[in-house]
Amino acid sequence: MRRSGLGWSIVSVALGMPALPPPVLAERRKTRQIKVGKVLVGGDAPISVQSMTTTLTSDINATLQQIAELTATGCDIVRVAVPSQDDADALPAIAHKSQIPVIADIHFQPKYVFAAIEAGCAAVRVNPGNIKAFDDRVGEIAQAAKEAGVSLRIGVNAGSLDKRLLAKHGKATPEALVESALWEASLFEEHDFHDFKISVKHNDPVVMVRAYELLSEACDYPLHLGVTEAGPAFQGTIKSSVAFGALLSKGIGDTIRVSLSAPPVEEVKVGVKILESLNLRPRKLEIVSCPSCGRAQVDVYKLADEVTAGLEGLTVPLRVAVMGCVVNGPGEAREADLGVASGNGKGQIFVRGEVIKTVRESDIVETLIEEAMRIADEMGETAEAGSPQVSVG
Ligand code: SF4
Repeated sequence: MRRSGLGWSIVSVALGMPALPPPVLAERRKTRQIKVGKVLVGGDAPISVQSMTTTLTSDINATLQQIAELTATGCDIVRVAVPSQDDADALPAIAHKSQIPVIADIHFQPKYVFAAIEAGCAAVRVNPGNIKAFDDRVGEIAQAAKEAGVSLRIGVNAGSLDKRLLAKHGKATPEALVESALWEASLFEEHDFHDFKISVKHNDPVVMVRAYELLSEACDYPLHLGVTEAGPAFQGTIKSSVAFGALLSKGIGDTIRVSLSAPPVEEVKVGVKILESLNLRPRKLEIVSCPSCGRAQVDVYKLADEVTAGLEGLTVPLRVAVMGCVVNGPGEAREADLGVASGNGKGQIFVRGEVIKTVRESDIVETLIEEAMRIADEMGETAEAGSPQVSVG
């Protein structure tokens, strides 16, 4: 048996394909299910990954190009900003040609909401409180969305919290964010409209996590997780991973968006990896490499980089171990679908837990790549675009 403490499966099953679904940390919280175009959000639907384009939405070609890159990276739903009439005019072409559902992000102007629904957008992010303050056409929006089968997102954000709630709570506390979200929701509920998800974003993961916990106790709408203004890639990745991990490990969260001051493709990579790490999305190629230490008998960093580069594009559920010495090397390499344990200028190559050959150090990379390709062929998978993820264990 492979490790069985969490219900893992038997090692001798088909390569990379556990007999049972991999274990998760918590049962998913029950939420209503809504449609964002072809993607279901909430209920028992897989947790989806979202991002937002950074191009001018009015630049249709640039926006579609970026959406194509996001789609290839694993993005399920994309949001585009609609601050002007030119952007609204671009929505029909973008919604029609995008491979994944498009959400229009609109803050105040109801006319753009109607334009987005008319354009065929899958959903609209809009806060009814802003609309109510602007010209009170919330009922018309609910009616138009219902007729078109378009869902909405209420996006409460610490930075734009209602002044009334700021005065009441002193600042954007978890309670203030939740009160704001439930009030916004009530504006749609008054019109018998319930096809929306909610986000309560804050840049502090502690406040954000508590807000989502409270919100999940208070309603059953699907929740869109996000740490807003999380920062540059390194800090934002950590903040988002910690906050999403805390919530997803309790079954809270139906769709996620990692916000980084970095190209949106990076957001999607992080989001996908967070879900894969928690077994909430099937794992693809995973490279397990040791951090190296004084016992290492090969240059582990170089070896891991070369194997990673050589397997770029392979998307099979394959775990490849690259270990620096014979202390933990053989054990880890056996746990993987394919692996190498290095030492004395040689590498023992493992497949399916068995040593299949020992090769010279200079042949390790080539041998691992050959074996990975052979296994991928056996699995009937094809190499697709996308980079493998490296985890240093
Ligand atoms: S596998 Fe060997 S070289 Fe790598 S960290 Fe462990 S003991 Fe050090």
